[in-house]
Amino acid sequence: MSAMPSMTSITPIRRRGLMLVLSSPSGAGKTTISRRLLEDDGAIAMSVSVTTRPPRPGEVDGKDYHFITVDEFNRLAGNHDLLEHARVFDNYYGTPRGPVEEALASGKDVLFDIDWQGTQQLAHNARADLVSIFILPPTVEELERRLRARAQDSEEVVAKRMSKAADEMSHWAEYDYIIVNHDVDSSVAAVRSILGAERLKRERQVGLADFVNRLRGQ
Ligand code: 5GP
Repeated sequence: MSAMPSMTSITPIRRRGLMLVLSSPSGAGKTTISRRLLEDDGAIAMSVSVTTRPPRPGEVDGKDYHFITVDEFNRLAGNHDLLEHARVFDNYYGTPRGPVEEALASGKDVLFDIDWQGTQQLAHNARADLVSIFILPPTVEELERRLRARAQDSEEVVAKRMSKAADEMSHWAEYDYIIVNHDVDSSVAAVRSILGAERLKRERQVGLADFVNRLRGQ
């Protein structure tokens, strides 16, 4: 009769970090959902993008974005230091490669607030690691109300974003999951359940074959 392996002899299962993308038109509530997720899950790191747009009141350089010049942006893009990048409205945005690779290597998941163009690039370069969620506002009136409530953008910018929202939402079918943001609590719970299930995917659990072999005494 073969001895049962002791617990300490069993190879631990490690987890391969995943890239969780949240996209939506501006004002659909994505920023609030992201903040809530980060607050109560220490295993998620937020990807801080670079942008050439000026900071809005209250935005902190290095936390909300790294605010950079067009020259700096072109240098980063030219050096392949950006995992993806895109022009959104009249500005450039991109994801610095280094911090994402470090977080994934240390087993953390990385949360991205990027648009459909960036999501397409990540899908092309790293499909197996990507989990993408599109957040929709419940109604167009609610979208406009939320954009106005922020009161950070000029009337002209609000009007422009409203007209862009329809274009952005046309990309919903390129995403793995769709959440209609009726209320923040339910949307946060929905994202958590997606994350919980995706973390358990067989291919994200490294060392599973060894673990099972040992359980079987082989
Ligand atoms: P905002 O200027 O309102 O912060 O962002 C405008 C849009 O740019 C949002 O849809 C946001 O998701 C997107 N965005 C922010 N950072 C990035 C990025 O690094 N890459 C891409 N592709 N889009 C981004």
